[in-house]
Amino acid sequence: DTGADLLVRSGVVWFGSAGGWVTASHHTLTQLGIPSEVIDEAALRGLFPSIDASGIETAVFEPEAGVLRAAQAVEVLARRAQRRGARLTTAVAAPDGASVIVDGAHRGADVVVWACGPWLPRLFPELVEASVTKQDVVFYRVGPEWAAPGVPGWIDLDRAMYGCGDVDGKGFKASSDIDGPDFDPDTEERVPSPENLERCRHYLARRFPGIADAQVALTRTCQYTSTADGQWIVAPHPEHAQVWLVGAGSGHGFKHGPALGEYVAALAEGRAQPEAHLGLGHRDVAGNLRTGQPTDGTHRPS
Ligand SMILES: Cc1cc2nc3c(=O)[nH]c(=O)nc-3n(C[C@H](O)[C@H](O)[C@H](O)COP(=O)(O)OP(=O)(O)OC[C@H]3O[C@@H](n4cnc5c(N)ncnc54)[C@H](O)[C@@H]3O)c2cc1C
Repeated sequence: DTGADLLVRSGVVWFGSAGGWVTASHHTLTQLGIPSEVIDEAALRGLFPSIDASGIETAVFEPEAGVLRAAQAVEVLARRAQRRGARLTTAVAAPDGASVIVDGAHRGADVVVWACGPWLPRLFPELVEASVTKQDVVFYRVGPEWAAPGVPGWIDLDRAMYGCGDVDGKGFKASSDIDGPDFDPDTEERVPSPENLERCRHYLARRFPGIADAQVALTRTCQYTSTADGQWIVAPHPEHAQVWLVGAGSGHGFKHGPALGEYVAALAEGRAQPEAHLGLGHRDVAGNLRTGQPTDGTHRPS
């Protein structure tokens, strides 16, 4: 009912090793009744104007998945919330016990939710154990044959790369999922490292040779806010039960936003109980959910 077309139904294709994570996900999706199919090399060639599929042991296509228009979605959300009575204030907020200081004034509330992305660990340094890393996203100038929805989103797990077709003329997206260097969201420049530009270029030449020399149209910096085990933080403040700390989406926060929002609303209204594994404090690295570790010998940049 927003009147905006927020989801580009391009489908998403996963590349991976036979019997690995992609295969397991295909089984899970099938059990849940979500359409997904294992596709062969000929079908892959039908999805991309140019692809070198060598080295891809298995490919799974999710036809109903797609790409979200994130900036528009946030604008629509803000407008809808205001129509329903929310008041939007643009200011820097700071916690003070159970209340909030905004523009120097204390504001009390029945419930306070701190969902501050990469700023969450610095607002609550004693409570939040999470790293913030710099992840470069690159968009390439390409011809109309590379536009989404014709071209799907793609994730190459073995090489820790992902991207999507050209949405709204922004360009063909490619990004490395390998954990980048630590990042200060207040002081550091949001420009890509030469190393990451080279990594993306190398991948294009390897996987999508038809656009190996495409010009860079645009770059963006994504910040991954991550706990040691890759799980979210969705937890009450230990001293103020009506204050909630929410974040650490490991760079996956946007697509989970609606479901997470419903869950946090249920917590705030006492309709759900907090989950211990999403709590504050130290997390065990063993069992980390992150998939951004390539099997081709590429390591975390310094
Ligand atoms: C370039 C890029 C690409 C991405 N790609 C994907 C993707 O493909 N898939 C996906 O799922 N996710 C993706 N993400 C990640 C996703 O956007 C985040 O995980 C998600 O936005 C996190 O939501 P959040 O509400 O926790 O934090 P944020 O969206 O970071 O919002 C936090 C807000 O709090 C504000 N804030 C912080 N501190 C204060 C303060 N003291 N006072 C007042 N306001 C404050 C900030 O200004 C910000 O507006 C991407 C992000 C970027 C930047």
